[in-house]
Amino acid sequence: MKMRKTLGKGGFTLVEIMIVVAIIGLLAAIAIPNFVKARENAQKNACVANLKQIEGAKVLWALDGGSGTPALGTDLVDDYIKKEPHCPAESTASYTANDLDTDPGCGYASAAAKGHYLTAPSS
Ligand SMILES: [Zn+2]
Repeated sequence: MKMRKTLGKGGFTLVEIMIVVAIIGLLAAIAIPNFVKARENAQKNACVANLKQIEGAKVLWALDGGSGTPALGTDLVDDYIKKEPHCPAESTASYTANDLDTDPGCGYASAAAKGHYLTAPSS
């Protein structure tokens, strides 16, 4: 029987390396879409938390005698919110406080589609 000599000839064959690369590629193909979905879900939850914070600040502002529509930057920040929040999905998107009867809104371009709201918009 012919014995394979392996001493001093370590390493993998091309087929073995190709199989390992294929398995890693398959695992990445399964995992990456789930990572993207989890990231979007986390951003949505953080945005909704920001909206709830703004809503609470609006109520406090109204209790302190404010009426009409508060401006987020001048009426609410510093007095009722420590610093102006921004949507985690888009750092340039800012929020609008709206009046007391309307929920605050997210400025993210696809806010409605991605669930960045307190009350689901009626269709
Ligand atoms: Zn948002």
